[in-house]
Amino acid sequence: MRRKCPKRDYCCKKCGKEGTYESITGSHVKECGSERVKCGLCNKCRERGTMEEHKSKYCEYAQMECPVLNCEKKVMRKDINQHLKRNTSAHRKAIEKKVREASTASNAKVSTKTDNARAPPAFVVGGHSRQTSSATSKSQEMSGYSDNQLQEIELSKRDETQL
Ligand SMILES: [Zn+2]
Ligand SMILES: [Zn+2]
Ligand SMILES: [Zn+2]
Repeated sequence: MRRKCPKRDYCCKKCGKEGTYESITGSHVKECGSERVKCGLCNKCRERGTMEEHKSKYCEYAQMECPVLNCEKKVMRKDINQHLKRNTSAHRKAIEKKVREASTASNAKVSTKTDNARAPPAFVVGGHSRQTSSATSKSQEMSGYSDNQLQEIELSKRDETQL
């Protein structure tokens, strides 16, 4: 039986990298990005090159921070829905608190309730996107004021929103 030369040309069947038989089957396999490896957390096999992404985005058993604002709990990805379900009221309070901090008293139009009903709390993150509208429409409602008073009101509102 003839043994094949370990230094013969060889290329990785997974990624196509060329080298010697020895180097490809020896060291390269351990680092080949296309070699499938087991995720240490969920035991699923993934290509090595995608493992980091798998862990940070997809792995069910990877710990992730709860996406809800102000809730800093770490939860396994597979448990996040359960966590969200069990903590809806706490989460809502946390979000409402945050929204209240972000918007000002003059901006009472922000309605967190309808938002929560439509989208899961995760998507309310950064809830200050809609605090632009009311300043102008409100000044029209205050028809009883003189121009100077209106101006003062506008200015004080602006100060508040900039805080
Ligand atoms: Zn390879
Ligand atoms: Zn995994
Ligand atoms: Zn949470």
